Amino acid sequence: MYRCSGCGAGMRYDISSQKMKCDYCGYSCTVDSHLQLQKEAMRDDYEVTLFSCPQCGGVIRSTDNAAADFCSYCGASVVLEGQLVNEKKPAYIIPFSRTKEECKKVFKHRANRAWCVPNAYKNPEKLEKFTGIYMPYWVYDVNQHAEPTLQGIRSAGIYNEYCNLNFKINRNYKWISYDAASGYSDDLSDVISDYDSKEIKEFRVGYLSGFYADSPDVKEVTYLEDAALVSCDMTLAAAKEKYKNIIFEEVFDPISTFNAKVENAKMALFPVWFLTWRDKDRVSYAVVNGQTLNTAADFPVSLSKFLIFSFLLAIPFAVLFCYIPSIPPKITLWIFLLVGIWAMLQNNSIAMVYINRESHMMDKGLLLSTESGWKQWKSDQKKKKAREKKKAEHAERKRKKEIEKSSKTLNAADKQEDSPGCLSIFILIIVLPCIISFITFCIFDSLSKSYTSDDLFMILVQRVTPVLAIILAVVMPIKIFWKAARKKLLRTIFLDTLFLSGTVAAASVILLERPVKDVFYYIGSLTVFAGILVGYLAIFQRFNLSCSRPIPDYHMRGNR
Ligand SMILES: [Zn+2]
Ligand SMILES: [Zn+2]
Repeated sequence: MYRCSGCGAGMRYDISSQKMKCDYCGYSCTVDSHLQLQKEAMRDDYEVTLFSCPQCGGVIRSTDNAAADFCSYCGASVVLEGQLVNEKKPAYIIPFSRTKEECKKVFKHRANRAWCVPNAYKNPEKLEKFTGIYMPYWVYDVNQHAEPTLQGIRSAGIYNEYCNLNFKINRNYKWISYDAASGYSDDLSDVISDYDSKEIKEFRVGYLSGFYADSPDVKEVTYLEDAALVSCDMTLAAAKEKYKNIIFEEVFDPISTFNAKVENAKMALFPVWFLTWRDKDRVSYAVVNGQTLNTAADFPVSLSKFLIFSFLLAIPFAVLFCYIPSIPPKITLWIFLLVGIWAMLQNNSIAMVYINRESHMMDKGLLLSTESGWKQWKSDQKKKKAREKKKAEHAERKRKKEIEKSSKTLNAADKQEDSPGCLSIFILIIVLPCIISFITFCIFDSLSKSYTSDDLFMILVQRVTPVLAIILAVVMPIKIFWKAARKKLLRTIFLDTLFLSGTVAAASVILLERPVKDVFYYIGSLTVFAGILVGYLAIFQRFNLSCSRPIPDYHMRGNR
């Protein structure tokens, strides 16, 4: 704690004035002019209290020794256990520049715009719990000194020619940053990563007063390669910007092509307003950038709000249907089948999101914070490298072949005194209109002679749609099954998918079989309807699950 030189009370960093402030006597001073802080600035380490949560084992840092009563990792209301330690200082910090009031306002606006958000997410008392946390980041400086030759295709009118471009690259990239706390998931941190590096300051302990800091537990090497790759992307983007008429070929192994070297990896703290909701054994987070107010949050959908909304929407449709002459049972079943296909497609996409999220496919920091994660990552990387190499070799062979071919056509064209692109232009001008007019002719011909438009429609209803539906009903569950099995999530994901696909397939068979009795079509319609209901409830539940995460358990992690 840093004492006020006026009255001796504890001071905190005040965001709106960007100064140290005493709430008791109103005294304020800059971070650099505070005497106690000046002494601190001479040291490499600083004194900090580690608060650990007895429930999840998460550890958070604070320079104030008053006990925290809320864990922002698992959302538990417990008194955290404090322990005073000396720690190495981070190198840099971006101080908070946006107040809690601004953060609450922005978040409320977001929550109001999101669809059917549960009231708990708008509760003002809850929003008061937004906590200012400095998140640890690794910031990398990358240098590139190289004279690479890049290959590309230059377009000049109807010609395309291969070309080699020689570059002289001398570039320094600063502050390429990656979050260093495995508990802070990448899908949130990426969204609010628009920090302005101009405001990065050298670390001073004073900036922490009144805030918390998360614990770095991701190793510095984790993102070395990513940082180098990002710098290469930026160089390539600059080259593309400069030579707009050239389509650049993919650069294989950009790091050695541009000789990208990471010069520096340092620890920095970036400001985040953080809020946690807990619902039984799941947690969800909202984060607001403490510098730019950019917001990321997992908003679930409230089931009751959703049902009321659907019911209200159904009323005008029900009234409308009263005035429509009765629909033939065949068509009823067909409409249900279409909705069933739609439900299957949605079920598929939400299942993929859920599987990715649950297995942390996208979160390198979290994946690499465990020993088995490292091994898995290493072997995946090896396989990926081998694949990329093969691809690059293939592209190189193809390129050589095409260069040979184009020089041949150039030679041949010289003799005929023709333009080299003559064949492709011939296809465009003559063949394509021929094909289009032939198809148009066929359609008109069949309409006027053998088929009526009703027949064509019935072909769509009784042949095309059911066949398509059966193919989807087989392919989709296999796809989900395959992916879920690999991530060991089979139990949570499979039964409802199978039920929905089964009912869709059954309805398709009825349409294909064309039974005479109407009752079969009605039974089919009811079956698909049941499938759709189950499917949508599953989609709903899975969507809400993908808006939250399992409660973190930091006890399991060795290096925290
Ligand atoms: Zn004071
Ligand atoms: Zn906890």
